[in-house]
Amino acid sequence: MEYDTDLILDLQPRLEGRIFRAPEGVALSRGVYGLGLVVTRPVRAGEAIYRSGWFTVPNADHSYRVLVEIDGSVEEVDVTRTHSVKYRDTRTFDIPGCFMNHACSPTSVSVDLVGDGSDDVTLYDQVALVDLAPGDPINCDYTLFDWDCDGHCFTCSCGSAECYGPVAGFEGLPRHLQERLMDQISYESARMWAATH
Ligand SMILES: [Zn+2]
Repeated sequence: MEYDTDLILDLQPRLEGRIFRAPEGVALSRGVYGLGLVVTRPVRAGEAIYRSGWFTVPNADHSYRVLVEIDGSVEEVDVTRTHSVKYRDTRTFDIPGCFMNHACSPTSVSVDLVGDGSDDVTLYDQVALVDLAPGDPINCDYTLFDWDCDGHCFTCSCGSAECYGPVAGFEGLPRHLQERLMDQISYESARMWAATH
């Protein structure tokens, strides 16, 4: 797998002709919440489900066309601004991570991997929080890495007893939840927290 650590001014030419297939043990599937990720093998809580790296693109309202394998067949989909996350003055996204759905009591969490001698985060492990059986959804809590939802806030209906309802990033969570989740937030959200508190 190829990881892109630098800002890519025009990503589209680099996506042409490429087919993105989910990592071993993961499938991109169409379900009740639209596109989402599922595991295709049993995974234990605490185990890394997959590792992925981001593309870093300009902070602009732009879509990219990508070919991805969905339920076994290749389809063209648009990766839009809402699939990406603000990172400093750029935006980042990865495939398949950009297709992961939100849940307020999620089955997994992204763990940033910081390179030696650098404070740039370009890789993450998606780590299971519960035991997963083949077909189970891989979802995550968007508030852990999305600081302020960046104009695409939404109202969650995940059905969890602890559902947040309106989701407006980590900044928008009540203080008691911020304190509870503090040790799980992304490197960038921790940076924003430090800069604003
Ligand atoms: Zn919810």
